[in-house]
Amino acid sequence: MNVLLLGSGGREHALAWKLAQSPLLTRLYAAPGNPGIAQHAETAELALSDHRAVIDFCIRHSIQFVVIGPEAPLVEGLGDNLRTMGIGVFGPNKLPAQLEGSKGFTKDLCARENIPTAGYVRVESRDGALASLEDFGLPVVIKADGLAAGKGVTVATTRDEAEEAIQAIFAVNGASAVIEEFLEGEEASLFVLTDGTTLLPFGSAQDHKRVGDGDTGPNTGGMGAYSPARVLTPALEQRAIDEIVRPTVEALARMGSPYSGVLYAGLMLTADGPKLIEYNARFGDPECQVLMLRFEGDLLELMIAIAKGELAGRADPEFSADTALTVVMAAKGYPGTPETGGTIAGIDAAEATGAKVFHAGTRSDGDSLVASGGRVLAVTARGSSVSEAQAAAYRAVDAIDFPSGFCRRDIGWREVAREDD
Ligand code: ATP
Repeated sequence: MNVLLLGSGGREHALAWKLAQSPLLTRLYAAPGNPGIAQHAETAELALSDHRAVIDFCIRHSIQFVVIGPEAPLVEGLGDNLRTMGIGVFGPNKLPAQLEGSKGFTKDLCARENIPTAGYVRVESRDGALASLEDFGLPVVIKADGLAAGKGVTVATTRDEAEEAIQAIFAVNGASAVIEEFLEGEEASLFVLTDGTTLLPFGSAQDHKRVGDGDTGPNTGGMGAYSPARVLTPALEQRAIDEIVRPTVEALARMGSPYSGVLYAGLMLTADGPKLIEYNARFGDPECQVLMLRFEGDLLELMIAIAKGELAGRADPEFSADTALTVVMAAKGYPGTPETGGTIAGIDAAEATGAKVFHAGTRSDGDSLVASGGRVLAVTARGSSVSEAQAAAYRAVDAIDFPSGFCRRDIGWREVAREDD
């Protein structure tokens, strides 16, 4: 089968690496891809927002299956358009992708289905938002509606900060927002595969969103992650599936828009049990990198079964008992304006230590490899504990020569501290 993988990040390199191992694969294409993905796929320049161009590409290259990596094409309905053409797709249609595309949609669904999540109000105007602040204590969480790549959320500890966040959101015409109760606890990510009816757990992870060691500094797309997240015990995972994920999937099916793909639940593990912070309609980046290092099955075969609605009766996907940990190497300046063009060397030496280096923002420049974006590499390793996986990942990081790059040195710290106890 010819497959097209859409996206260009570390997540997509990890997917390409795993898809390339499938005996069902004839030819892998990727768009736009990156030099890491190009080791496994034929890459092409395609604007993912141009659905007609994606469909034409599929027809020209006899592509029967498309794996959609990032959220934007899902929320824009690329899945619907490909399915209409009879092409198999990994990733939900436009309406179910609203779980990620609209925080208001998700909060309303949670309220209707009694799904545990933070108390909230939806607000459509600056004045309405300011007035609603009265109903919340501090801290309070202010979220712009719509996709904001992790940058639309403020956890305000003072009233002034909350007002500032509201002013910033409503400076944009037609904006809307959600104001939420602050949830206390530790965060964990749960991944569930579904064909709209059957659910298969697909592992857990914990990521590190802040740019600096000790979880300091501004939020980023993610500076590292590890899997599994042991804080999400089997009992808590079962509760999250029963109380959060299953009622969501059932509600969408009743609405006539079954969810097909991976549903990524961002959870807060509170004293009252798991509560939903957010849904994503795709794998996380960098969580995908650690999941793919541990997943032991045939990814393409599983994705096709999801797309065909054939998950019923399948055993849970198998994962290695090891921990996988990934460290993101970013270009200096990230998450502000990253310094691009810096040379990168030593990837072979890093992989000789046993690690896997996934490319994100890289570009070939003649014979050399240079940084082309904020997050540049995801250096990923396995170990029998988080401490071991962490040591292995940093051994590989230290083999990489990327003078204009930086990384956090404490990925996995929560679990390492627990292991040291
Ligand atoms: P991303 O897609 O990058 O995760 P997002 O824009 O979809 O970000 P959320 O995941 O909803 O936003 O929130 C981002 C972060 O803000 C969460 O990971 C969490 O740390 C914090 N946060 C969000 N909502 C709450 C809440 N109700 N209580 C406490 N913290 C919260």
